[in-house]
Amino acid sequence: MQHGWEGVVLRALRGKDFVLTVRGSERVGEQYQRVRVEDGGLLAACPPHPAMWVRLWFEHDGRPHQRAYTLVDPDPAGGTFDLEFALHDGPAAHWSLAARPGATIDATVQGTRAESAPPGTRVAHLVGDTASLPAVNSLLDAHPAAPVRVWLEAGHPSDRDLPVRARDRHEVVWVDRAGPPGEALRAAVLAAWTPPGALDPERDWFWVACEAATTRALVRHLRRDLGVGKARVSGVGYWSAT
Ligand SMILES: Cc1cc2nc3c(=O)[nH]c(=O)nc-3n(C[C@H](O)[C@H](O)[C@H](O)COP(=O)(O)OP(=O)(O)OC[C@H]3O[C@@H](n4cnc5c(N)ncnc54)[C@H](O)[C@@H]3O)c2cc1C
Repeated sequence: MQHGWEGVVLRALRGKDFVLTVRGSERVGEQYQRVRVEDGGLLAACPPHPAMWVRLWFEHDGRPHQRAYTLVDPDPAGGTFDLEFALHDGPAAHWSLAARPGATIDATVQGTRAESAPPGTRVAHLVGDTASLPAVNSLLDAHPAAPVRVWLEAGHPSDRDLPVRARDRHEVVWVDRAGPPGEALRAAVLAAWTPPGALDPERDWFWVACEAATTRALVRHLRRDLGVGKARVSGVGYWSAT
């Protein structure tokens, strides 16, 4: 598939291109689809790291449509990984439902970087939803013994049954979507961060990846109102509500 002007920019930024081949697909939840792929050499060329993501190229209305997806359980030896899709009315989500073994999809690696709590972190605070659940799970895998507090927005009641890889020191709170996406999540997280001692701006780490406006609002609150330093906040809007 031609990747258009975005492809030209990504090539200039030294993006690496691969072709993934679908090996299988399964429904993980009412609103969640997992697709297993052969990596086309991606993991050998780009060693995996926590919350690693790739740019997948879907076709939509005859045009390239690029969206980010997170690698789940990358296996460099076997050359495979899974992709997990939160289902909604969008081309990427539709592709995941139609993907059959043997189908291919282009992927570009550019812009992903290792996400990790700085050494000596007291508590890691992760805020996400089903789009960022694969990244949340990889961060929990990367910090199995560290204290982590996770807030996740459930867009549908069945989302609460999705597998969260929490261990003993990981506390998980699901917040049901009520009103516009992210609104109830934002209120719940702000309330949890308000009591004295709930967070330590000097020693905690904050990773926020949910709907874009909510992500921006939470990151702004951390940085401007609570004075958390740049190195202790990682915020990426994973999708935009329209
Ligand atoms: C670094 C990164 C990693 C990501 N990893 C994953 C991942 O592993 N799994 C995953 O599911 N998503 C992931 N996302 C989010 C995903 O890229 C977006 O949800 C993307 O917009 C989906 O594309 P689409 O073509 O299906 O829909 P689009 O064409 O982008 O949007 C179509 C419609 O669907 C709505 N929409 C888009 N995404 C969602 C959503 N998640 N929930 C509800 N409504 C939505 C939009 O508001 C719009 O109305 C990631 C995003 C980033 C930035």
